[in-house]
Amino acid sequence: MYDVIVVGAGATGCTAAKTLSENGYNVLQIEKFKMPRYKSCSGQLIKKTVDLVQEYFGAAVPASVMCTPTENRGMIFTNDKGKVFRFEQPGLNVWRSSFDNWLAMKASECGVEVRDCTTVLLCEENNGIVNVTLRGEKTYTETAKFVIDCEGVVGRLKRKILNNTPQYITTFQTYNQGSIDLDYHYFYAYLQPELSEYDAWFNVKDNLLVLGVSVKDNEKIGVYHQRFLDYMKEHYNLHIDKQTKADKWLMPHILPGCNIDYGVGRVLFAGEIAGFLNPMGEGISAGMESGYCVAQAVMHHFDNVEMIYSDYKERVEPLHSYMKRQWSFVAKITDAFSDMK
Ligand SMILES: Cc1cc2nc3c(=O)[nH]c(=O)nc-3n(C[C@H](O)[C@H](O)[C@H](O)COP(=O)(O)OP(=O)(O)OC[C@H]3O[C@@H](n4cnc5c(N)ncnc54)[C@H](O)[C@@H]3O)c2cc1C
Repeated sequence: MYDVIVVGAGATGCTAAKTLSENGYNVLQIEKFKMPRYKSCSGQLIKKTVDLVQEYFGAAVPASVMCTPTENRGMIFTNDKGKVFRFEQPGLNVWRSSFDNWLAMKASECGVEVRDCTTVLLCEENNGIVNVTLRGEKTYTETAKFVIDCEGVVGRLKRKILNNTPQYITTFQTYNQGSIDLDYHYFYAYLQPELSEYDAWFNVKDNLLVLGVSVKDNEKIGVYHQRFLDYMKEHYNLHIDKQTKADKWLMPHILPGCNIDYGVGRVLFAGEIAGFLNPMGEGISAGMESGYCVAQAVMHHFDNVEMIYSDYKERVEPLHSYMKRQWSFVAKITDAFSDMK
């Protein structure tokens, strides 16, 4: 029997698994895809994330996971009235597949048993033990004292446990060869309601221009994306020679109160699946911090489930308040976030 089974090998799962394992706990980490797995992401590591990597993983983000321009200098928002807000801050630009794979390697070096190509289908608690049904080449069961569910946005497992259907935002981004009159070192977000139903964004990865929009109504992706391209052509002289890739993903729709689901019994939630996500979709730092906090809470109160929950909530309280403050700040700079009022 494992002490803890961690579901998912994203930034959240790797942080939780590594923290527990280096403190002597017997940890199995399950990832449904083959590592390194693909994850749609702008791959912007803000300063806080870079610092958390150093703190939790004892190493700097390696050059091997970065893309050019490696240095991100901050974010530039344009609100619904066309007003520009600059947030200067040093960060990094990475490919998520390589970054998360590196985190999983670090976890594995600390003794975590990382098992990829395996899906967690079900968690059933019985007499202080969680029976976890897994599907790899065959379907089988493992047992653990606790499960930390870090399965990311779609959260089929959590949906089964809570029996609810969350609201999602669909993201769509294209990677393009071409040119534009913007500084490649920044991440740009556009909050004008005619460009998206949430936000539209631009950033650069290895000389590819990434242009994305997020929508609540899936059917409108094409219309909004084309409008965004037209806007960028008109305002920043965007020229696209060739579109090389496109991807569609989901984001949880987090409202102003930033509701968090901490878990049910011996199955705890952390990262995006729990609801930890900062405004404009920055979720890696929130994932890592919540993954670390849940691991600490489990370690400190291994024999007392109730205490784990109160400790976990206390540890993430500063992060939760920060998220709420950030959401009200974004709601203040734009009328576009009507749902948020
Ligand atoms: C378009 C887009 C751009 C973004 N850009 C940024 C950005 O620039 N910076 C930033 O900080 N954040 C960004 N985010 C948000 C960020 O990607 C997420 O918040 C973050 O990845 C959450 O980390 P996680 O570990 O909780 O989940 P994930 O990274 O999604 O990892 C969850 C893992 O669990 C696995 N899994 C799921 N279900 C199961 C199962 N049943 N069994 C086994 N494994 C399972 C998945 O395959 C996945 O590997 C972006 C998101 C989107 C959609």
